[in-house]
Amino acid sequence: MVILNIKPSDVARITSGQVITDLVSILKELVENSIDAESTKLEIIFKNNGLESIEVIDNGVGIKKEDYDKICLRHHTSKLESLEHLETVATLGFRGEALASLNSIANLTLTTCTKDDNSKASQLKFTSMGELKETKTVIGGKTGTHVKITDIFHNLPVRFKSLEKTIKKEYNKAITLIISYLLIYPQIRFSIYNHNLATGKKNLVMGTQGLKRSTTLDSLLAVFGSNGSYGLVPLDIDLKDLEVNFRLSSGVFPVMTTLNLKFEGYISDKSFGMGRSSSDRQFVYINRRPVTNKRILKTVNEVYKLFNHTQFPVVVLNIVIDPQMLDINVTPDKRTVFIRHEDLINDVLREELSNFYNSLSILIPKNASK
Ligand code: ADP
Ligand code: MG
Repeated sequence: MVILNIKPSDVARITSGQVITDLVSILKELVENSIDAESTKLEIIFKNNGLESIEVIDNGVGIKKEDYDKICLRHHTSKLESLEHLETVATLGFRGEALASLNSIANLTLTTCTKDDNSKASQLKFTSMGELKETKTVIGGKTGTHVKITDIFHNLPVRFKSLEKTIKKEYNKAITLIISYLLIYPQIRFSIYNHNLATGKKNLVMGTQGLKRSTTLDSLLAVFGSNGSYGLVPLDIDLKDLEVNFRLSSGVFPVMTTLNLKFEGYISDKSFGMGRSSSDRQFVYINRRPVTNKRILKTVNEVYKLFNHTQFPVVVLNIVIDPQMLDINVTPDKRTVFIRHEDLINDVLREELSNFYNSLSILIPKNASK
């Protein structure tokens, strides 16, 4: 047997595959970086559904010159002060590996400008190991960051072939992911374009206004139209000092604690659901972080079924919970979040949502003017 010493650049490529597995994960990382940079405007441009290139342009704080050489190095992040901080992290990113991973599986160009750079942006390129390779000054730059990705999976031929085959499906999944962010960040102005290189057409796929007073309902309207967002009612369930009894694995006696919990967002009124359970109209968040939590969704669908046997609700549900109750650092994409006392939270949701529907006695007549 021959034991190979894998070249560092190959190691980077192999492990990057775990963070960046498809188009959705690319979009997720770039959009989260822009949101973390306090952007109020976000433009996303796909070329040929993303197969040719993906660009994310934001008006966030930009990156300081002294950080240029660290951006694409693995495990470099500006968002975690210490490991203890991991418990309460408020930003969406914190692993410091997304750009490093992206850079090793695609061709990445990053142009950035802070408010102190006097409109002189810097266009940066990196080696496959993530070291800064090239800096070009671009005059007339706006504050913010522009990331352009081309040649996705150019060095992973099998994955590229599979992407090529499934690009339309991947693109649709990426759009649904973007929707999950724009619904929960209504004050950011999102514009999404898809540029078909064969026809030369650059289509606006969707956009939100992103005003200071914009709400999730405005974003729902912008994305699904007035039909798609008809009959949605606001959810606002605020529970304080819930008592929780639990047993520590090391302890004999139960421990008692209290927690605050909030369920907020929008959900279909009793008679205004959709015909099928469509995952592209059901969004769950924990502290505004989009998550995959089948159990919570199942509970929502089951409660809704008690009031409407034939339909499923459109739902945008944000669960607000003390960050200490969460473990976000479970999977590289952070979409699986472990909740301490998940059983309890699920039970509370079931009960509160039933009460909510029971007290929703006034039905909006189907053709009422709005
Ligand atoms: P993380 O988001 O986990 O910190 P990333 O690899 O996604 O790691 O990004 C590395 C660093 O690059 C971030 O910590 C941040 O400082 C900077 N950065 C990335 N994207 C942007 C952006 N759009 N605007 C400002 N800074 C950014
Ligand atoms: Mg990030």
